[in-house]
Amino acid sequence: MTDPSRPQPPGGARAQPTGVKAPHGAKELEITWADGHRSKLPHEILRGYCPCAGCQGHSGMIQFQEGGNLDLRNIEQVGNYALGLGWGDNHDTGIYSFRYLRALGDLLDAQGPEAVKLMGTLPRI
Ligand SMILES: [Zn+2]
Repeated sequence: MTDPSRPQPPGGARAQPTGVKAPHGAKELEITWADGHRSKLPHEILRGYCPCAGCQGHSGMIQFQEGGNLDLRNIEQVGNYALGLGWGDNHDTGIYSFRYLRALGDLLDAQGPEAVKLMGTLPRI
């Protein structure tokens, strides 16, 4: 049950992580959500679809960027709505909202990482 007096993030339980795992040397980030689902997000997909303004500008679709460093060095929670990811080349401006991560996870479940990479663009959510 959710406590109605507690502020819920946009997207509800589907977009509320209960666990985040990124074992050293792993190539994917694993997020468990409050609805029980688990998403596996390959580093290549996360870095390629980094939503920061430096990678994407301020408007338009999120475009896949090839060639970024894929060593996930740092994960920190941002407010109650997002994760900030830091990479081995010190790129740490990507703020990934929980809604964005869940949508990406669901897309990966449906299509697989290769197809998601080949899509090349994602909507901003
Ligand atoms: Zn970026």
